[in-house]
Amino acid sequence: MPQALPQDPFEWTADAARLRAEAGLVRTVRPRPSGAAVLDLASNDYLGLTRRPEITEAAAEAARRWGAGATGSRLVTGSTELHAELERELAEFCGFEAALVFSSGYAANLAALTALSAHGSLTVSDAGNHASIVDGCRLSRAETAVVPHADPEAVRKTLEAHPGRRALVVTDSVFSVDGDAAPLTGLAEACRTHGAALMVDDAHGFGVLGDGGRGALHAARLEGATGVVATLTLSKSLGSQGGAVLGPARVIDHLVNAARTFIFDTGLAPAAVGAALASLRLLRREPALAERARTVATTLYERLTGAGLTAARPDAAVVSVQAPSPESAVRWAADCRAAGLAVGCFRPPSVPDGISRIRLTARADLTEQQIQAALGTILRTAPPR
Ligand code: PMP
Repeated sequence: MPQALPQDPFEWTADAARLRAEAGLVRTVRPRPSGAAVLDLASNDYLGLTRRPEITEAAAEAARRWGAGATGSRLVTGSTELHAELERELAEFCGFEAALVFSSGYAANLAALTALSAHGSLTVSDAGNHASIVDGCRLSRAETAVVPHADPEAVRKTLEAHPGRRALVVTDSVFSVDGDAAPLTGLAEACRTHGAALMVDDAHGFGVLGDGGRGALHAARLEGATGVVATLTLSKSLGSQGGAVLGPARVIDHLVNAARTFIFDTGLAPAAVGAALASLRLLRREPALAERARTVATTLYERLTGAGLTAARPDAAVVSVQAPSPESAVRWAADCRAAGLAVGCFRPPSVPDGISRIRLTARADLTEQQIQAALGTILRTAPPR
């Protein structure tokens, strides 16, 4: 008997939805209204730039001058002089020879990982790396060795076990769940010893760490070093959208010729380029913004732990606070939201260590009054321990 064909070839998604619901893992899109009176400690707008009038005006001006879209891929019509200006200034600010802008940080990571590794090469990836790095490793077809989190010794041993193999070590600079920084000096040392390249995703370090926000690699004095590339997103500290890869000119030239997310993707929209460039220039003029974001994070951490909560000491602008159970973390975040405070929430399986957390992102533009209000809400709604 031939099997009956399904009425709808997507019928199986109903089963997937049921399984998700049973596991309590349903994700929901919640569109936010434009002028919501919510205190935001959930976004990645670390420097509070996304709504600064000079940044939104720069976006509008770029759209008026260059168009609402980039009109094509970067190698055809999608590279404007504004893209080139942003690439020059990003490279110069962060201390690298060259930069290449992408339509997202995700695309920048896929580009670097696929173009800088190959079938037969080795990629050594931290177990806590961002999903876009995991996907880049898969797409690259290189052999990927996942090493324990923040463990240069494990990286060294892995490289040692593959002598003479072309290798790339990849890590987030600041891990987005706990806000801890990668041991870049130790990783760079392991790479140097074994002739491996180092790729650092500075999504959460750029604009916050290093001199005036020049990033984690600048802080570790690895900016512009031989064998080192950085990737960035323009959507966090710069309050815009898009991504970039920074590195030696010949590496960037290789990406132009080999990275599929550069070659086959429409260029970043001019409005996003204009906003990112304006934010970068603003950060140059107001370097204290970077330090302020770090200070706000430390203040949140000290006052929350001082009140008896368990949190990881922040290395940048992310503060992660432990909750006793997944259910209590979800309820805590919901109670905060009901009280007018947006916070992030992590729980297993997205946190492999099984510890549920709420996550706060410090913003340079938070006032003392807003910090007090946020702390009051978090403590008032905290689950009993
Ligand atoms: N890397 C890290 C560490 C990130 O947190 C993110 C954003 N969530 C990305 C890359 C991707 O950047 P984008 O959102 O610009 O695609």
